[in-house]
Amino acid sequence: SRYFTINDFPQGTPGRELFELRETELPALAEGEVRIRNTWLSVDPYMRGRMSGVKTYIDPFVLGDPLEGAAVGEVIESRDARLSVGDRVRHMAGWRDIAQLPGDQVEPLPGIDVPEQAYLGVLGMPGMTAWTGLNRIAEMLAGDNVLVSAASGAVGSLAVQLAKARGGTVVGIAGSPEKLAWLESHGIQAVSYRDRDAGQLTEALQAACPEGFDIYYENVGGTCLEAALNTLRTGGRIAVCGMITRYNAQEPAPGPSNLAMVLIKRLRMQGFIIFDHWADYPRFLEEVGPLVANGEIDYAETIEEGLERTPDAFLALFEGANTGKMLVRL
Ligand code: NDP
Repeated sequence: SRYFTINDFPQGTPGRELFELRETELPALAEGEVRIRNTWLSVDPYMRGRMSGVKTYIDPFVLGDPLEGAAVGEVIESRDARLSVGDRVRHMAGWRDIAQLPGDQVEPLPGIDVPEQAYLGVLGMPGMTAWTGLNRIAEMLAGDNVLVSAASGAVGSLAVQLAKARGGTVVGIAGSPEKLAWLESHGIQAVSYRDRDAGQLTEALQAACPEGFDIYYENVGGTCLEAALNTLRTGGRIAVCGMITRYNAQEPAPGPSNLAMVLIKRLRMQGFIIFDHWADYPRFLEEVGPLVANGEIDYAETIEEGLERTPDAFLALFEGANTGKMLVRL
């Protein structure tokens, strides 16, 4: 098996040299284990937190050990009676070509008629996050005006479409012309945060939605949060899903200069971690799965080819190189 590990806990933006490709001879399968040929690997922003050497809501990666992450693949050998050779499965032993792990850590792919890698994106953890943040955390109501940052990414691109389907004005913030075009082609008003300070971004958002937002779906932090605080309506809700501007930061950042808006506008701001909500996953699949299968909900993918490119795919997330879900195809 070939796998990636990291040789240090990076400060600031990690470089490519942090990642080492190693090879190991896998032992024979123990009772209850399965061997899987991975076909798709997921890279996700939260993995940066696991490279910091400190426990947050999840343990840090262990230097020298294979990195972990969501993956889908095909069972090629099984000593677990519940799994057979040829089964398509999802598990967390990503960042490698061949995975070997206990069968109870492997789940067969749900039977919805979508390409298998959709279970890493729109129908996987990121999609589940968008649905939970909007419905359970922000408690979206029909007709709410919704603002989403990193709106063309894996989470954001589902959040904007779910919001759009329930009426109200939906505005997505994104970083490149290609991403803005993707949003607009799906009927979402798109605003760039590039080359705009918080004041200029506020003006652009006010122009897009003069009556103000009921909900801000937060993926980014920084100027996006500051502009959102300016443009939320009284009683607005913020679902704090991510703050990617902070993940590579070496110094703590000051809070938004207008945090008092939380008080003045009686806002509610709530963070959430999707693992706490996983019991709802079947419900999410039941609701969103058919919409993806019949094309009512669209999704984009940015694909890197080959195991060797996995670190590049991961690092590109922080440069905004992906439209939709960032994936590696093996
Ligand atoms: P994305 O597909 O959205 O990829 C990351 C995107 O973030 C980039 O494409 C880029 O888009 C944007 N970005 C990167 N760096 C910056 C920056 N410095 N300033 C502004 N934008 C930046 O990733 P995901 O959809 O997987 O994740 C989106 C967010 O959701 C992340 O913050 C992630 O941590 C969070 N998340 C939280 C979960 C939870 O349980 N709470 C679960 C899953 C994800 P652009 O070019 O538009 O700027």
